[in-house]
Amino acid sequence: MIKNFNIKRVLQGRLFMGEEIVSSITKLLKENSITSGLISGIGAVKRAKIGYYDQSKKAYISQEVNEPMEILSLKGNISIKDGEPFPHLHIVLSKEDLTCIGGHLYEAEVFAFEFEIIEFEGSPFQREFDENTGLFLWKN
Ligand code: ZN
Repeated sequence: MIKNFNIKRVLQGRLFMGEEIVSSITKLLKENSITSGLISGIGAVKRAKIGYYDQSKKAYISQEVNEPMEILSLKGNISIKDGEPFPHLHIVLSKEDLTCIGGHLYEAEVFAFEFEIIEFEGSPFQREFDENTGLFLWKN
């Protein structure tokens, strides 16, 4: 299942120390009426809450990591969920000893964050509950 999009515009920006990444990105998408696209970012966080989806239990296990970490890669997509722009974000973080952790991103407090949003032009994907996975996935 694929859709064809054109690139409408590219936004580049940063968040400031203390801002929360997921809510700030969501707000930015709503304010700019961005309903489909790609997000990427790098930087550093003071703490983060990330998750792993347990496929057999069909439930997320989330974990708060309260330490300064580098954002090696934040990557995500934008679509519509419950009629609103929704960013689905994943993150790879590195710790002081350079080991990495990662997962589905719930929230993260910015130390420094630089990002790009590539906005698509076309009819956006809409998320709908999927019985098979227990996730809200794209429908046609
Ligand atoms: Zn996810």
